[in-house]
Amino acid sequence: MKKIAVIGSLNMDLVVNVEKMPKVGQTVIGSNFKEVPGGKGANQAVAMARLGGKVYMIGKVGNDGFGKTLIDSLKKDEINVDYIKKEENTPTGVALITVNKDADNSIVVAPGANYKLSKEDIDDSIKVLEECSIVVLQLETPIDTVKYVLEKSKSLNKYTILNPAPAIKLEDEIIKHVDLLTPNETELEILSGVEIKKEEDILIAAKVLIDKGVKELIVTLGEKGSLYINKDTYKMHKSYKVKAVDTTAAGDSFTGAIAVALVNKKNIEESIDFASKVGALSVTKEGAQSSLPYLKEVIDFKG
Ligand code: ATP
Repeated sequence: MKKIAVIGSLNMDLVVNVEKMPKVGQTVIGSNFKEVPGGKGANQAVAMARLGGKVYMIGKVGNDGFGKTLIDSLKKDEINVDYIKKEENTPTGVALITVNKDADNSIVVAPGANYKLSKEDIDDSIKVLEECSIVVLQLETPIDTVKYVLEKSKSLNKYTILNPAPAIKLEDEIIKHVDLLTPNETELEILSGVEIKKEEDILIAAKVLIDKGVKELIVTLGEKGSLYINKDTYKMHKSYKVKAVDTTAAGDSFTGAIAVALVNKKNIEESIDFASKVGALSVTKEGAQSSLPYLKEVIDFKG
């Protein structure tokens, strides 16, 4: 089976429930503390592996307990972790997440070792890039490393997918190496500099990026579905109707599913339909990696 390389972040999410968010200078008592594996890179890798993808993860953790736990959790999903390095003297990335009684959250991310992923680390993992057919990236690792991976991947003739989250304005040199971009609406707005007020604005914003060299975009629109755009055409894909419980990692599950479908030679229509099922299933369960469905659930899902 063809391999997928994911170059991205691994974080330990430290989640605590509170009645009300603390104000500046205030201490509140929380409950239900949980340590949950996360990070967009790891989430997408897990999404792919559960859908049957053969996944290699390239990333960095600290030489500490969280790092070990994160690597062990990826192994449970049969993800190859040989190219996840341990950085001395820098902690594993963590996300401090507080959730109030209305399910609103506030999050502080300390990227730690994720921000130490360097070009040298990519060179050390070049075998993975050479052997895979699709390379998937997000923006939770240093932007210079993202750029380097994209350049290397294109020089090796690989198909590149960038899930541009968390969004920042990207230089044209980065954008031109992206085959498929999977932003949500807010991310598209930041990337393109076009304010999105109505559906037509999505097309205008997407065109800005296509003119810079992106081949295809899938703009995810939550329960409204997603919009596929290339230089010649566009098509809206409706979402599947489900009872949403928690939308965390819907985007990660969607991008992961697209990569697996494309590596299995599905066309873009089939791939988006598959990813829409996966995204819908992911919102029916709580949490990030805990909500990512297995292939059998997707096959059994009637929509
Ligand atoms: P997140 O940041 O929470 O991971 P996102 O904003 O990146 O999410 P979304 O656009 O919310 O990503 O979701 C990705 C895809 O998942 C959507 O395009 C859609 O197909 C599916 N999806 C998301 N929310 C729902 C929902 N409430 N019902 C059905 N499908 C959904």
